[in-house]
Amino acid sequence: MTKVLYPGSFDPITKGHMNIIEQASNLFDEVVVAILNNPNKKNSFFTPEERFEMIKELYDRMNNVRIVIGSGAAVDVALMYECKAIVRGLRSLSDYDYEVQLQQINKDISNNQVNTICLFADKEYQFISSTIVKEVLGLGKDISNYVDPSIKDKILVKRSKNEQRI
Ligand code: ADP
Repeated sequence: MTKVLYPGSFDPITKGHMNIIEQASNLFDEVVVAILNNPNKKNSFFTPEERFEMIKELYDRMNNVRIVIGSGAAVDVALMYECKAIVRGLRSLSDYDYEVQLQQINKDISNNQVNTICLFADKEYQFISSTIVKEVLGLGKDISNYVDPSIKDKILVKRSKNEQRI
């Protein structure tokens, strides 16, 4: 049985992430989607627990997609869940440079136990990122093309809660 780990912030999960999960779930026996804290992204929109609930609901009916909240290094989370490889999604050349570095580090720190597999989102999803979704939302524009309808609803509820707090 080949299990892979798909780590990320998923703040929020987009149609780009979903496209990568769909491809990975067709290629491998099980995909473990791990919500990890990215130290470079300080101000999160959703808490890890909220992200967990949202993503779990999306994949409730898919029995080879498992959602977890992880902490620490992605390679340690991969080993904990017996995943042989980490899946990363590539969007652009700028992603590529970073991912080349990351895969080498991940091989090193896992003593060659965890490999990296890069997948490409279908072209209509390649430009989407969680950051872009939040920017479009901030401009007061529609985000329906970038996120699943259930995720859009939760984003709008969260935004109105945030506004009430100000
Ligand atoms: P991170 O904080 O690790 O960058 P993200 O949630 O932004 O987490 O992304 C998780 C993974 O999904 C990364 O490998 C990222 O490149 C990939 N990804 C995100 N959006 C897309 C997309 N539209 N197409 C392909 N890959 C994507």
